[in-house]
Amino acid sequence: MKKITVIVPCYNEEQALHYFYEEMERVAAQMPENTFEYLFVDDGSRDGTLAVMRELCAKDARVRYVSFSRNFGKEAAIYAGLTHATGDYVAIMDADLQDPPLLLPEMYRAVTGEGYDSAATRRVTRKGEPPIRSFFARRFYTLMNKISDVELMDGARDYRLMNRKYVDALLSLQEYNRFSKGLFGWVGFRTKWIEFENVERIAGETKWSFWKLFKYSLDGIVAFSSTPLYLSSIIGAGMCGVAMLAIVFIIVRQLLFGGSAYGWPSMACIVILIGGLQLLCIGILGLYLSKAYLEVKHRPVYIVKETETDAVERAGEDECKREE
Ligand code: UDP
Ligand code: MG
Repeated sequence: MKKITVIVPCYNEEQALHYFYEEMERVAAQMPENTFEYLFVDDGSRDGTLAVMRELCAKDARVRYVSFSRNFGKEAAIYAGLTHATGDYVAIMDADLQDPPLLLPEMYRAVTGEGYDSAATRRVTRKGEPPIRSFFARRFYTLMNKISDVELMDGARDYRLMNRKYVDALLSLQEYNRFSKGLFGWVGFRTKWIEFENVERIAGETKWSFWKLFKYSLDGIVAFSSTPLYLSSIIGAGMCGVAMLAIVFIIVRQLLFGGSAYGWPSMACIVILIGGLQLLCIGILGLYLSKAYLEVKHRPVYIVKETETDAVERAGEDECKREE
């Protein structure tokens, strides 16, 4: 009997969790040859998510959970899940059923029978998503594939099933700024891509604002590409070249036609342009530096407040009190 761990990052998902559990149980029933472990990661939720997890854990011994001391982000939740997972195979799935559990049997066949190390999913439509968000998401994937070495699939989800080797490889990457979509590609191995149509969230609402997604995409670029740095050096060098030509031009004009005082507006424009470019390049540099700064501090990726063992201990204490 092979064990499959299902990691579920949850942030304010009290409404969706029951639906998720029920749907997952239906799929688990279709895979009688496997045992399951549900590993819910509570990413510092402010609603009753933790209470739902405790409840599920109390009635089902296969349910485990890790609860963070605050919101550390989905990437931290995924990492915590991978660290705590004990299964032979590990799946990552969103709590809102946008990652259809029904695909799991097909993914399992790919990693057990077809020689793949992981089975990943990508959505081929973005139905139900705001058009602006889809537009920028598409541009991001095109840009990322141009400027970085790792291959990113357009529409790739974090939903995937991996074997132990693959999980251990991911865990061996000790970085603080974790951009999983890139890390999955970086570790290599053979991945089968399974496509599906976008499904809308079952309950609750999305946790990603446009601004959060924008910052996330910058994280991805900084983590997996040095192109912006090269680009700013190239622009800088180009501007130097233009300035040299301009100096020669001015000297020649001075010698041939004498002094002149015109040209102030154009001069002001040039100063502003170059000043702006300098700030931009310093900004890019700063972005990389700030990431490096966070990296050298070696802070933990997440801090755990409670796990299922605490729940068991607490239940034991309650039992003792009742007997007294
Ligand atoms: N999530 C999380 N921490 C966060 C934000 C989101 O663990 O800070 C979880 C969330 O509970 C869900 C998954 O990540 O299970 C995907 O989030 P969501 O559905 O809001 O994103 P979308 O599907 O809209 O991109
Ligand atoms: Mg979602």
